[in-house]
Amino acid sequence: MTDTEQKLRQQMSQLCASLFARGYSVGTAGNVSARLDDGILMTPTNSTLGGIDPDRIAKIDLNGNHVAGDKPTKEVFLHQAFYDTRPQTGAVVHLHSTYATALSCSEGVDPNDCVPPLTPYVVMRVGTVARVPYVKPGDPKSGDLIRDLGGKYTAVLLANHGPVVSGKDLFSAVCAAEELEETAKLLITLRGQETRLLTGQDVQDLKNTFKSM
Ligand code: ZN
Repeated sequence: MTDTEQKLRQQMSQLCASLFARGYSVGTAGNVSARLDDGILMTPTNSTLGGIDPDRIAKIDLNGNHVAGDKPTKEVFLHQAFYDTRPQTGAVVHLHSTYATALSCSEGVDPNDCVPPLTPYVVMRVGTVARVPYVKPGDPKSGDLIRDLGGKYTAVLLANHGPVVSGKDLFSAVCAAEELEETAKLLITLRGQETRLLTGQDVQDLKNTFKSM
């Protein structure tokens, strides 16, 4: 095993434990993946993010074959859809975190833009968020629904299920998933109150300033 892979396994275990400790994931909900030169590391099926053994993290090769560690998460296709459609993706985080999942269940949400620009941080770290229709857990069709978006979005809400967030590397993807959760919390907290959103010009200014988005 390369040094890079060993370090990435350690980092994945630590960041997953941190997400779990802070309540972003409960039970065996949620799964995380990160890209290597020769494949993808994924949290194992039926594992809790609070206790991922770095050596047992699943590895699949570039053809999708399971080559090391425990069996990968059953939601592997959610992750692969991002790697296949967004070549810049280095990691993917899928959670059932409370507020983003609440938003995934809300009526009247624009499926092409379901998180309005409340703060600069959601614009900079997450960008526009799509919502794809509900399918039952474990159905590979949710991977197809993400593929159908053509790689336009860094983050997606699975209706009545939860968020899937990608990033250029593991740390960025985890930060973006946290930012999305906090923004969903603000949105739901502000419901029924008059709310000032960033203007179109504010959003454009952020996009011009932070071009790496
Ligand atoms: Zn899930």
